[in-house]
Amino acid sequence: NKFIFVTGGVMSGLGKGITAASTGRLLSNAGFDVTAVKIDPYLNVDAGTMNPFQHGEVYVLKDGGEVDLDLGNYERFLDIDMTSDHNVTTGKVYQQVIEKERAGDYLGKTVQIIPHITDDIKRRIREAAEGHDVCIVEVGGTVGDIEGMPFLEALRQFVHEQDEDDFLLTHVTLVPFSKNGEQKTKPTQHSVKELRSIGLQPDILVGRCEDHLDPETKRKIALFCDVPTDAVFSNPDVEDIYHVPLTVEEEGLDQYVMDRLGLRERALPAAER
Ligand code: ADP
Repeated sequence: NKFIFVTGGVMSGLGKGITAASTGRLLSNAGFDVTAVKIDPYLNVDAGTMNPFQHGEVYVLKDGGEVDLDLGNYERFLDIDMTSDHNVTTGKVYQQVIEKERAGDYLGKTVQIIPHITDDIKRRIREAAEGHDVCIVEVGGTVGDIEGMPFLEALRQFVHEQDEDDFLLTHVTLVPFSKNGEQKTKPTQHSVKELRSIGLQPDILVGRCEDHLDPETKRKIALFCDVPTDAVFSNPDVEDIYHVPLTVEEEGLDQYVMDRLGLRERALPAAER
């Protein structure tokens, strides 16, 4: 199994889900069996009880699971059917761990966020990925949110448990324009600093911007965030989100991901995609 984790910095509603789904689409075009997991760090067990005015429409899966709209993006972008196991929420994780504690499964141990909650998070991700070539794991919310911490800690542990070429961390951030028309990288720098403070170093940075990132902006992001310049990608505004896979493909995101994960040899030749 190969895993691509996708986190977001600066603010929510950036396009992290669309970036993750687009990465998956390009890998499935290249002939890989791709699945996805969406992590929602809220305490609700599922989205079924959430106010649609606040949260957006509830998406219903084939097994009746009531989940976040993002799962709908994955089903449409990847042309797959998912089950509620592919939506991991804080509520689900804690509910299971507390039930196990009540049943005495922990044999008298003190039940803690680390390792019991983080172990359950890792187990759910691995189980959802089973039988697929690649699993895209989107961590909802923004890096630095208290709610997201146990998930990012689980991710940090995950990095050490996987072979280096089985794992990638993509961080999606905002690159705003200043009043004088300059692309500003400071928000990106700060959100990467935040990631690093919890022991995570991104492998790929995707800048959401009104426009393509200038070569100079990419160089600056690479320098400050400690990634190669060719690991920095633009995800400019487009009119139709179904064009995002094409714009990130033009940037070479799929080639970079396949190289890093050692998938290049197994990929379908471009002419057959
Ligand atoms: P996040 O996962 O960061 O909360 P989403 O992926 O759900 O964000 O996207 C948030 C909103 O931005 C959605 O309405 C989506 O259609 C839109 N969006 C995402 N990427 C782009 C893009 N490249 N161009 C224009 N709109 C986009």
